[in-house]
Amino acid sequence: MKIFALVGNPNSGKSTLFNNLTGGNAYVGNWPGVTVDKKEGTYKKTPEPVRILDLPGIYSLSPYTPEEVIARNVILGSQATNANGDLEEKPNAIINIVDATNLERNLYLTTQLLEMDIPVIIALNMMDLVEKNGHKIDAKAISEKLGIPVVPISAQKSEGIDELMDVAYETADTPREGKTVLADGALGHLINDVKIAFKGMDVAHPLFHAVKLVENDELEVEDHKELVKIVSEFKKTFKDDTFGDDLEAVAADARYQFISKNLSGAKTLNDNLSEEEANAALESRTKSDKIDKVLTHKWFGIPIFLVLLFLIFHLTFSENLFYLGGVLQANGASPSFAGSPFEGLFWSDAGIMSPGVILQTFMISLTDNVLSPLFAGWLSGAPSWLSGFLVDGVWAGIAAVLSFVPQILLLFLFFSLLEDSGYMARVAFMLDRIFRRFGVSGKAILPMIMGFGCSIPAMINTRTLPEENERVATIRVIPFFSCGAKQPILIAIAGAIVSNFGFPNVDLIVYLMYLAGIIVAFAALIIMRATTMRGKPAPFIMELPQYHRPQAKALGIHLWDKLKHYMKKAFTIILAAIVAIWFLQSFTFDWKFIPDQEVNVVDLTEEVYTDLAENDSTYSLLLEEAEYKNEDELTPFADIYNEYVEVQATVEELSNKESLTQEEKDELEEAKASALEFDLIVNPVLVASFDAFKETVSDPEYLDVSDSILAGFGKIIQPIFTPLGFGYNIGVDRNTSWVYSVSAFTGLIAKENVPATFAQLAASVNKSNISLQASDDAVTYEDLYVAQLNAEDGTDATKLMIKNTGVSWAALIAFIIFNMTTIPCFAAVATASGEMNKKRFKYTILFWLGCSYICGTIFYLSLRYWWPIAIFAAMAVGFGFFIHYFNKSRDDKNGQSAN
Ligand code: GDP
Ligand code: MG
Repeated sequence: MKIFALVGNPNSGKSTLFNNLTGGNAYVGNWPGVTVDKKEGTYKKTPEPVRILDLPGIYSLSPYTPEEVIARNVILGSQATNANGDLEEKPNAIINIVDATNLERNLYLTTQLLEMDIPVIIALNMMDLVEKNGHKIDAKAISEKLGIPVVPISAQKSEGIDELMDVAYETADTPREGKTVLADGALGHLINDVKIAFKGMDVAHPLFHAVKLVENDELEVEDHKELVKIVSEFKKTFKDDTFGDDLEAVAADARYQFISKNLSGAKTLNDNLSEEEANAALESRTKSDKIDKVLTHKWFGIPIFLVLLFLIFHLTFSENLFYLGGVLQANGASPSFAGSPFEGLFWSDAGIMSPGVILQTFMISLTDNVLSPLFAGWLSGAPSWLSGFLVDGVWAGIAAVLSFVPQILLLFLFFSLLEDSGYMARVAFMLDRIFRRFGVSGKAILPMIMGFGCSIPAMINTRTLPEENERVATIRVIPFFSCGAKQPILIAIAGAIVSNFGFPNVDLIVYLMYLAGIIVAFAALIIMRATTMRGKPAPFIMELPQYHRPQAKALGIHLWDKLKHYMKKAFTIILAAIVAIWFLQSFTFDWKFIPDQEVNVVDLTEEVYTDLAENDSTYSLLLEEAEYKNEDELTPFADIYNEYVEVQATVEELSNKESLTQEEKDELEEAKASALEFDLIVNPVLVASFDAFKETVSDPEYLDVSDSILAGFGKIIQPIFTPLGFGYNIGVDRNTSWVYSVSAFTGLIAKENVPATFAQLAASVNKSNISLQASDDAVTYEDLYVAQLNAEDGTDATKLMIKNTGVSWAALIAFIIFNMTTIPCFAAVATASGEMNKKRFKYTILFWLGCSYICGTIFYLSLRYWWPIAIFAAMAVGFGFFIHYFNKSRDDKNGQSAN
């Protein structure tokens, strides 16, 4: 099978073309360095199928970065084996993608590709944009000057693709000898001499290697030390006016001169346009500049970015979209779909829901109202331990993970839009301006922003950084840019903060937490670059890509990829963790099984009530009179209780009113009467149930989740977290307080495990908490009953559990920060280990542990007591000065010894 390699500058459209040719789903992104590894696929429309390689984008073939090395080795066919250890084959032809809107810079790489002995075809991409800008390009002229075929295409609009492949298919059959644009003058002679030497040595691509050797290319000099001598002899005689004997610069200059003399003229204004078309083209040419004036403004650029970010979080997480909640309520009752399946879907008491919350509510309603009953019904005949395991254990955890899918996808969609349009590249450019002085380049910022999606490709993307220290430091902070998997932690905890502590909105908390992650990342990066990871930042030579209208197809591919990835994780690694947790939570240290159902207060009450209704004739009469019992039906106690609560509320409301109308007076009398009736029905049940309940839990054999291995383990490690606010300070004996240490631990496997563990534990922990409260004399059975009713409501169980831990909101924030900055998931850790040497990897693990502990502590203490902020700030300033002077004196010393 023939093999074609796609080679071109970053952002020239290689991945778009690749996807178009192969039906693949390579990552398309409007910034450099998105494709770092190569991808493979097959194109089937040629007479025989063709293998296509999508290579990382490169600006030249003189490798400075790992990705340039990959590309060069693949093109030369000198990469003997690939990552799987299979033998690589050489490509039969190169398809050189040239971004026609950036002709000159892109052709620079072309002049180097030409030097290889391999057929090259130019795919002149983005012709749609060229036309839109009112330009035209003489493809034939370029083709004649370079001696290779040139095919205009638009990868995005799928124009010219098949023609390109036909031409490439034909061209690949004819061997081509390398040609160089440096053939003139003394330089040309030298190259020719070296080429002859290489030919004699039977080296493949002699011209290419000759040019590289003359250019003083590092890899080449390494490989052919014996020939370096000839070149350096020559160098002594060679002096260029401008560049002296820097042959690399001389060659680069010669290439650009060739391009501007011979090729630049091929692109001209299209003079066949009507006046209208010409005006539209002019406008389109200047539009991008105009947008840039605003979006990358020196002062407003960053604030605009922050506002955009906030808008995104607001649209995804807010329960009060555009703060219209008050408006709705001011107009009287907010419209609702009470009683219908849409209840609470579009708006709640808080206000209008954001699209993200609507989708999430929909998802939860789907799992709660459709999937869970289906599942429970299917298991109705199973033994209680099995259904407990499957329903409360496995399914609760999975459902918790699923409920976050809509918001994750939505957030990801927004990020993809920013990225694909070309805006993120501009953000990197703006941040580069700020952070360069701290030793962090814009090139490092791109992978960090990618980290918002997933740390793994982001870590691989750091291969675009030529300097090792900057690269390692960047890998370490990438996880702090919260990836999709960490969102559920944020949403769950932020939700608990809002409902338990009366904070106004979830979206603001989530947004601030993301910002906190970013701030920690930059602070850590700056510290590392000043201490253990010193070095000069990589130069940021990237020109801003054109703004592009994001492609629906590319977005779809992104989202689908993300969804697949998430589902796969949910049903493998997370499922395994859930099962493990269930076992640890269901057995005591001496392997006694902890039954799950025993302390279900609601069920117990229902039992006592049925018993009374059937065996106590007075009570039975009462029920019949109140029409709660007839021949074939007994109203469930929970329903009666709810009515009772409503009547009581009416009584209270009306009695507190200053003056009553006659109508209201009547209503009050009536409510009082029925409250008395209810007392007769409700109280005997509550009293009898309490007795039964006490009997159960006071049995010395009685076990619940706080006796489990998991709780024991949680309590052992819990004190470690004291400085973060969820250790000793919330009480190690408390029945619920160990859930944080346990879930922080399960989070090390995958971050989704944190909320999944919460959800999974909530039911049993809440029950256990209820039984513990029963020993407290002040607690009435009614409290327990209500607590249990709430606990059974799936969405609130986690919040209730968190409330019962008695934790402070500051500690919850510290918990988020801890999870955000600690060791990332298994897969990311494995990736990091592959990207650095062993010693650095060990320090990286230590760094993550230390960083999360320190940051959690700083956040907790500062938010809880405020005054520690002053101490931390003073420490930071002191540390800053110390490092500054320490580095200075060390540099001075080094400088002196060098002299
Ligand atoms: P790569 O870095 O070379 O792989 O480039 P990508 O395939 O990721 O594309 C970079 C950007 O250019 C994306 O936003 C694409 O949607 C856009 N793009 C690619 N080809 C075309 C094209 O023919 N026309 C237009 N208008 N945009 C394109
Ligand atoms: Mg790409």
